[in-house]
Amino acid sequence: MPIDPRAPYDPNNIFAKILRGEIPCKKVYEDNFALAFHDINPQAPVHLLVIPKGAYVSWDDFSEKAPAEEIAGFIRAVGQVAREAGLVDPGYRMLANVGGHGHQEVPHLHVHLFGGRQFYAMVPQ
Ligand code: 5GP
Repeated sequence: MPIDPRAPYDPNNIFAKILRGEIPCKKVYEDNFALAFHDINPQAPVHLLVIPKGAYVSWDDFSEKAPAEEIAGFIRAVGQVAREAGLVDPGYRMLANVGGHGHQEVPHLHVHLFGGRQFYAMVPQ
């Protein structure tokens, strides 16, 4: 069920629990600003999620409210995760779903990194 990207942050969402270590994840990267792990239901040979450590519901929330240091740190982390996963040379796709039309399901900002195969040109479904 898509979430409301402007709703107050819910500290009991699944990614908040992963950040607190209450639920396990297959971690690939962590720094002061971000945590990255394998998606539980991969849609490509490589499907990673990168999440900020701060409490932000969505890209909308993050881009409006996060301090510049957190934005820079998170964006650098996304790039670093892709490099460490070997995705840069073959290429990859990154995606952040936002709200209802974007079909965002988890109300903590996450960037999907997809790789390991050729993706098709973007076309509206
Ligand atoms: P969204 O539709 O919100 O952009 O994507 C949420 C993603 O989170 C989905 O790809 C889903 O498979 C993934 N996901 C949901 N619950 C868990 C979980 O408990 N662990 C991990 N690793 N991924 C999850």
